[in-house]
Amino acid sequence: MTSASPAATRIPRDGHPVSRKNISDSALTVMSRLRSGGFQAFLVGGAVRDLLLGNHPKDFDVATDATPEEVHELFRNSRVIGRRFRIVHVRFGREIIEVTTFRGHHDNGIDDDDDEESAQQSGNNHSKQSDSGMLLRDNVFGSLEEDAVRRDFTVNALYYCSSDFCVYDYVDGLADLEQHQIRIIGDAEQRYREDPVRMLRAIRFAAKLNFSIAPQTAAPIPELGYMLEAVPAARLFDEMLKLFMTGHALSTFQLLCEYGLLEHLFPATATEMEHSTYAQPLIEAAMRSTDRRIAEEKPVTPAFVLAALLWEPALQMRYDLEDSGQEPMPAIQEAGQTIISEQLHHIAIPRRFTGPMREIWEFQLRLQNRGNKAVSLLSHRRFRAAYDFLLLREEAGEDLDGLGQFWTELQEKHPDIEVDRTSSREDRPRPRRRRRRKRPQ
Ligand code: ATP
Ligand code: MG
Repeated sequence: MTSASPAATRIPRDGHPVSRKNISDSALTVMSRLRSGGFQAFLVGGAVRDLLLGNHPKDFDVATDATPEEVHELFRNSRVIGRRFRIVHVRFGREIIEVTTFRGHHDNGIDDDDDEESAQQSGNNHSKQSDSGMLLRDNVFGSLEEDAVRRDFTVNALYYCSSDFCVYDYVDGLADLEQHQIRIIGDAEQRYREDPVRMLRAIRFAAKLNFSIAPQTAAPIPELGYMLEAVPAARLFDEMLKLFMTGHALSTFQLLCEYGLLEHLFPATATEMEHSTYAQPLIEAAMRSTDRRIAEEKPVTPAFVLAALLWEPALQMRYDLEDSGQEPMPAIQEAGQTIISEQLHHIAIPRRFTGPMREIWEFQLRLQNRGNKAVSLLSHRRFRAAYDFLLLREEAGEDLDGLGQFWTELQEKHPDIEVDRTSSREDRPRPRRRRRRKRPQ
């Protein structure tokens, strides 16, 4: 069975611009193999939304009535992942097609028993809620119609069937797409309580698509922002990457401030922004520069954005430590360490980024040194990021007595000095060295 129930608005091929030409072959393969196996399969989520808007989808998500295990059986190149929300990743080279089983209503399937084994035995067809209504697990499977209303926003709940070429709309998503509006499905407060990350997603899509957030979808956000503090720090790190590293960091940041969410993600930053003149302009300059680099397809790293977000709190703490008698370098080191440890309670920043953040901060002190040794810093692996950071501080209005100009000229005087490649702002994975097999003698 490939067609949806008549309850949906069904838009035939000549009524919409979604063409198979613009859908990845891997996604088409996944859907056709699922159908051959007797299951339903639809393209859903961001891909349908972006194709309808005439944009290039970032990735392709498929929804099906096959359970994760059934999907896994059909594809050797697949893995069942997640616990809170079990899905299947089907891999084709570097491309991953995310296959989700239709979610159903969880109210009558609530599983109070957190016994992992019983959940496994019953196929994990369970959901689990916290006292505050947060969904700790959402693995109740259902029909296509149920799946549509379990999705977050109407524009994300449009389905495309690659065998009848129709778009299916159960939630008036097409109307919202036309009106450039992010509207949550169902009762906003309840949906945010189930999953507070939806507040961040509302903001992310509004920024990315340049859409407005519908009034009833926006209204509860400032009051429920505190619920983000209950979201696991590792998940918030992943979300943070999507917020700031996908080309719309500046408008996303401004919306986070407007809706009062920044204080629940970066509390020290939010506090410092109230007191310091430079905090917000510096962060905005870093976001603008990151967006520009992404548009130019230049490498970017979250370490740089995070260094900007937490710079002012680290700087203030450094001054406090200096006031109590510490030398500047140990003071910035200790301040950096402390500010990062506090931040880790909220967002789990991996060590591969906290190290570079601290180096960028410490380098700000070293860059103050205009003496004979200055030239030796030019080849340092962190020079480039630290110099870029220095320029942003000046752009944000800090008066550094021409320090940026000094380093710009010094580099011009020494065009021959190679900056160590590892200093680039990119977090390039290290090439993995293959271990040579010993040849049999
Ligand atoms: P992007 O362009 O960033 O990939 P997307 O809309 O595809 O945007 P994904 O995070 O890939 O976003 O999620 C795919 C789809 O899964 C969404 O479009 C939405 O329908 C659904 N979804 C994702 N996260 C949630 C959530 N927290 N609550 C409800 N539905 C969700
Ligand atoms: Mg997606």
